[in-house]
Amino acid sequence: MLSVFDSIEALKGVGAKRAQLYKKVGVESIYSLLNYFPRTYIDYSEACPISETEVGQAYCVHATVFKKQGEQRIRKGLSVYKVFVTDGSDNMVITIFNSKYAFENLKLEHEYYFYGKVQGTVLRREMNSPTFIDPKVQTPIKAIYHLTDGLTNNIIASNIKSALEVLGDIPDDALPESIKRKENLCHIRYAYENIHFPKDNHALNVAKERFVFEELLTLQLGLALLKNKNREKTAIKIKDTDLSSFYSLLPFELTDGQKEAINDGLCDFKKDIPMNRLVQGDVGSGKTMVASALCYCMAQNGYQSAVMAPTELLARQHFESFCRLFKDTDIRCCLLTGSATPKQKADLKEKIANSEYDIVIGTHALIQSSVSFKKLGLVVTDEQHRFGVNQRFELSKKGENPHRLVMSATPIPRTLALIIYGDLDISSITKLPHGRQPILTYAIDSEKRLRALNFIKKHIDEGFQAYLVCPLIEESESGMMSISEYESYIKKSPLGKYRFEVLHGKLKPDKKDKVMADFKEHKLDFIISTTVIEVGIDVPSAVIMMIENAERFGLSQLHQLRGRVGRGSLQSYCILVSDNKQKQSIDRLKIMTKSSDGFYIAEQDLKLRGPGDFFGEKQHGLPRLKIANMIDDMSTLMKTRQIAFDILSSDPTLSSEQNNGLKLKVSELFNSDTGA
Ligand code: ADP
Ligand code: MG
Repeated sequence: MLSVFDSIEALKGVGAKRAQLYKKVGVESIYSLLNYFPRTYIDYSEACPISETEVGQAYCVHATVFKKQGEQRIRKGLSVYKVFVTDGSDNMVITIFNSKYAFENLKLEHEYYFYGKVQGTVLRREMNSPTFIDPKVQTPIKAIYHLTDGLTNNIIASNIKSALEVLGDIPDDALPESIKRKENLCHIRYAYENIHFPKDNHALNVAKERFVFEELLTLQLGLALLKNKNREKTAIKIKDTDLSSFYSLLPFELTDGQKEAINDGLCDFKKDIPMNRLVQGDVGSGKTMVASALCYCMAQNGYQSAVMAPTELLARQHFESFCRLFKDTDIRCCLLTGSATPKQKADLKEKIANSEYDIVIGTHALIQSSVSFKKLGLVVTDEQHRFGVNQRFELSKKGENPHRLVMSATPIPRTLALIIYGDLDISSITKLPHGRQPILTYAIDSEKRLRALNFIKKHIDEGFQAYLVCPLIEESESGMMSISEYESYIKKSPLGKYRFEVLHGKLKPDKKDKVMADFKEHKLDFIISTTVIEVGIDVPSAVIMMIENAERFGLSQLHQLRGRVGRGSLQSYCILVSDNKQKQSIDRLKIMTKSSDGFYIAEQDLKLRGPGDFFGEKQHGLPRLKIANMIDDMSTLMKTRQIAFDILSSDPTLSSEQNNGLKLKVSELFNSDTGA
């Protein structure tokens, strides 16, 4: 007897070679094949009259075969068959290449649904090798899968048919009976059958609903378990949380948001369980100051802090601002980066282990892998959103349950943040420090580019700096400029004579750092860059950012990019260049020109969902979902959150028998690709 957990090779019709192909798409067991959900569906029942189809677009037509014309050999290895069909509104020619089988399957006087791109002319419409189904033997909704070379849609469908047989009368369903009944969810067998071979639209929706529910419940359970895990720990107790000596170090008044976030942290320090807090706020909202305050408090109580940044450059920037702030105190900071020599590193590590440094700043990789602390009390992670949820817990293993602070410049509406960061408490800094001028933002098309470049030139002449962002490194098929084409264009432009460098992800890290460092020291007037320097870089005299092909970015991403300018009190500008005339694209860019509030922009991003929206961009670090979508399925998301809490309140570790299936699902989801 086969079991669904057997290797896919055990399946009838799958040999070693095909199993290799399946491996490429992440399918290794019969079970994972069943969970290889379709990418989309073709609904053949939504047919379009032939006379109304437009050449160049894909359609489904429902037509009868009235004439067949047998094999014509065009050349060696290329045979063509023609089938003439009509649906009463008009005729169409179906051309089939090399498949006698398909040709013979299409019978005279029979009706079929054909799906494909209409070609030819309106006087003689054609379809080349369309997919087709016979409504008498197949349901009109056809599942379409992600394919790889050698693995066709038909092969996958037929293998899944066999897998469904193996599934048999599967008794074990991950969802407990009581939940299924209460939520009116279908049986797992019905769900698998109809997700792959929908009987009709209703059945497909019922199946989808079940899998979406199951996936989101699993997600919520996993997050709640992580949060509970933290709750079991005993925190380091911090006695002295008086920060008046810290406040006297500050060159400015803290904003209300900063004060609240610091106080949230200090309250956490007095609790029995370790702090696990996210501080979210726009670029420039002063999150570093919150971290400094909490690190200061740790040092005051004899504990060390680790501050991790995603890049070496950001780590150095943090180090510099910490040193500046603490220069008249006895707090000792060190910077641990990849560019230190082995001897320097060894020396630093020894001193860290002896608690000779209070605050250790470095990149994640470095601090995570090889440093041991004597008394680690606080771990700060900057720009956390780039890292997976599992990694959030990595570093806590270093000390005796240190407190944790994560900082993110990707503001997320609160309802969603509760979920995405379901394992964290949240402080939001919603206002920028006083005296910041909003960045003036303009959307232009490329005809105005020259004017924009002259505008930039004028500012450079006055001693300012600029970023030019170009999304592509490589040449593309879509007629967009690659970064090297852009570079040659700029060389011939009014900016050609100025000092600049090109920055992109393919440069070696030290070269990248050098370019950024030179820019920071004003040895360069501007840089041309892809999106590699995303957030956090603080170059006060950089006052203009110009973004090419702005329609290619999500709003939140544009907002983050824009946050690289306007860091000081100077008036800054952002110029969005786009030739895209679609209404949605224009509306999106308009939002950028009108608002500088990251939380508002994030909400609009959710509503309008353009290209590269931040959920699509894998920026939240959650496991990758197969079928659910956090935005479209928001109401299920909220519902499953409550259900997850209910389940865990009676069974905190999911160890009862009825929750066994769910427990397996959780480990499956969270041990898979974390999307980071
Ligand atoms: P981010 O939230 O993007 O990490 P930073 O912490 O880097 O922001 O702060 C940006 C700049 O604002 C820094 O130069 C910092 O010194 C300054 N800053 C922080 N807080 C205040 C404040 N309350 N008033 C004025 N300037 C501030
Ligand atoms: Mg920052």
